[in-house]
Amino acid sequence: MAYEAVIGLECHIQLSTRSKMFCDCPAAFGDRPNSNVCPVCLGLPGSLPRANRAAIESALRLGLALGCTIRRESVFARKNYFYPDMPKNYQITQYDRPLCEGGALPVGSGERQRRFELIRIHVEEDTGKSFHPERYGDRPFSRVDFNRAGVPLLELVTQPVFREPAECAAFLTGLRRLVRWLAISDGDMEKGHLRCDANVSIRPRGTSALGVKTEIKNLNSIKGVEKGLAAEIVRQNRALDAGETLTQATLLYDADHDKLAVMRSKEYAHDYRYFPEPDLPVLKVEEAWIEEARAGLPELPWETERRLETAYGLAGEVASIVGSDREYVLLVEDLAREGAKPRTAANWVANTVIAHANRLGIGIARFRERVPLGSFATLLARVESAQVTATAAKALLEEVLDRGGDPATLFASGGQAVSGDEALLPLVRAVIAENPGPVEQYRKGKAATLGFLVGQVMKKSGGQAVAQTVRDLLARELGQAAPT
Ligand code: ADP
Ligand code: MG
Ligand code: ZN
Repeated sequence: MAYEAVIGLECHIQLSTRSKMFCDCPAAFGDRPNSNVCPVCLGLPGSLPRANRAAIESALRLGLALGCTIRRESVFARKNYFYPDMPKNYQITQYDRPLCEGGALPVGSGERQRRFELIRIHVEEDTGKSFHPERYGDRPFSRVDFNRAGVPLLELVTQPVFREPAECAAFLTGLRRLVRWLAISDGDMEKGHLRCDANVSIRPRGTSALGVKTEIKNLNSIKGVEKGLAAEIVRQNRALDAGETLTQATLLYDADHDKLAVMRSKEYAHDYRYFPEPDLPVLKVEEAWIEEARAGLPELPWETERRLETAYGLAGEVASIVGSDREYVLLVEDLAREGAKPRTAANWVANTVIAHANRLGIGIARFRERVPLGSFATLLARVESAQVTATAAKALLEEVLDRGGDPATLFASGGQAVSGDEALLPLVRAVIAENPGPVEQYRKGKAATLGFLVGQVMKKSGGQAVAQTVRDLLARELGQAAPT
């Protein structure tokens, strides 16, 4: 039988607030283990939590960006379970009255846009981190660092809207872009700022009832999510084809060996005994706060992508590359403010700047330090007015990036294009003399041959000639008007 997969994601987003969710400890990383702790995040008796306003604000920003309904009175709840890296033996989270409900993440723009619906986003706290097994002499032991205990998290749960692992990858790429765009999280899956559990079931194609699902835990890269899901979908298909019945289970995926292991089956499902957190009041969010958060949102990435396509006339592919990171968009807009054509700036950022920044392992901020905005815009304006060819301009950029050339002088006067008749005519005549075959073909009416001859002249000029001038000169010399 032909089956289709049904997938829903539960994503944890670690917020980049200064302090923890319910106490004043720094939420910093890389500090000495167990140095950022206090009675509240260690769960000592008698300590009292207080909610972090900045974390709630981050949740509001994300919820509003995704079009969620914001609950004016939401409730923190205790989720009870024992785990060595969770000192209180419960986690403060939200249960039946979460802060945000509904909403959807748009991915792509225009006609290619897809919207992935959400169930909810709620606020909670992270656990500590265990390291095990390690050894002390010949004995195994574990260590635990509570610096992460109490760091704010958002949990975002999607509807079971995905049919293919690749859609999940597109969703996570879009979510990562959004949390960075809103500056609420670093969004790095490899570093655990963004974590994902994937729920998956299969059903006969064309039916609508949901099958029995399994949940794959702790996937720590977008590729890992895709590969783990693909492996589990294969496993479920084989099981059903072999006449087995599927059972609900929690699985762990080992990306290095492409293997799934059962972590617990349904009989061992947790009973978390949720109840409202008695030490925290109901979380009230005033209308004015919601409106303030809404007003503070930047243009959203899918809106920016659309604007790049419509206002700047960019190809969809270029718009999505530039729109993949807010820093790229800001660079294009700053270049435009300095006098470059937005379209040229966008094409340069998409085709050249990103490649150099990646090649050199420098971010856009450092690229900008090395290539001052004003000089760069001047160079692009000279490319537009054909004073310098794109090839020569790229060489100048490399001169600056790789050999420490001075951008101010190089970009303002370097790489002068060869455009005058006196300079180009000898090259044009030489190419005509050296290529009797193509010349003959062109004269017999094969217009496309002109492109080949233009290419030969360009080569002779070392990429310094202006293509349109060469084209005009060639056509004139060959006694015909240039085909347009
Ligand atoms: P649980 O109580 O097991 O955590 P939830 O109802 O909270 O399950 O759903 C968790 C996630 O699993 C959501 O993203 C949801 O869309 C998804 N999901 C629920 N049922 C199924 C199913 N049968 N197949 C695939 N995904 C599912
Ligand atoms: Mg769940
Ligand atoms: Zn603390």
